[in-house]
Amino acid sequence: MAWRSSGSSNAALIANLARNGLIESDRVKDAMAKVDRAHYAPSNPYEDSPQPIGHQATISAPHMHASACESLLPYLYPGAKVLDIGSGSGYLSAVFARLVGPTGTVIGVDHIQPLVTLAENNIAKSEDGKRMLESGQVKFIKADGRKGWKEGAPYDAIHVGAAAAEHHTDLTDQLKSPGRLFVPVQEGWMQHIYVIDKDKEGNVKREKLYGVQYVPLTDAPV
Ligand code: SAH
Repeated sequence: MAWRSSGSSNAALIANLARNGLIESDRVKDAMAKVDRAHYAPSNPYEDSPQPIGHQATISAPHMHASACESLLPYLYPGAKVLDIGSGSGYLSAVFARLVGPTGTVIGVDHIQPLVTLAENNIAKSEDGKRMLESGQVKFIKADGRKGWKEGAPYDAIHVGAAAAEHHTDLTDQLKSPGRLFVPVQEGWMQHIYVIDKDKEGNVKREKLYGVQYVPLTDAPV
């Protein structure tokens, strides 16, 4: 799965992800097509694999970005409020912003200041990205994502781009009713994606999906 969707351009990468069934909806396809991964990945931007972005972080593989968007899609409606924890390169925050549109908000949180600055610089490489930053449609903030970002809560969708050591209750607390959390969780030597739904009545239900490999959601380096 990791390599066969690679392409020679952003358009080719997205078309291959769709052809291989990793992108299913036209909304995700259009949003990912509008964000050039070369603005975010310093090397091999159109390869379907993670790439180093410095500070022991990686931009996740395109098929993982696609999977996160597909899972969260019902909650990424125009006007929705989204929290992207471990925003790293800023790529996925930029894709979420295209999905929620100008009346929506995306807050990207990372605990490493140079990565917060990197994400701002990356999104500002495109004219529409620059406008999103200037209007406040997208914000990047330095904070410990294990606590979420309560100043912006509640959120329709929360995405976590690093593996959590436990199910952090602050994150489910900051979901709207209804709302959805997409989070990789470390379990022994393994990590799995969990999709956690809060329904209209506030009941929380966890669903365990497939195994993954993410960098840890951890203490900030000193
Ligand atoms: N979605 C990003 C993934 C970046 S890698 C992308 O595709 O570019 C994971 C990120 O999580 C790193 O940038 C790392 O700095 C960040 N991170 C790790 N622990 C964190 C914490 N406790 N709070 C906030 N960010 C954290």
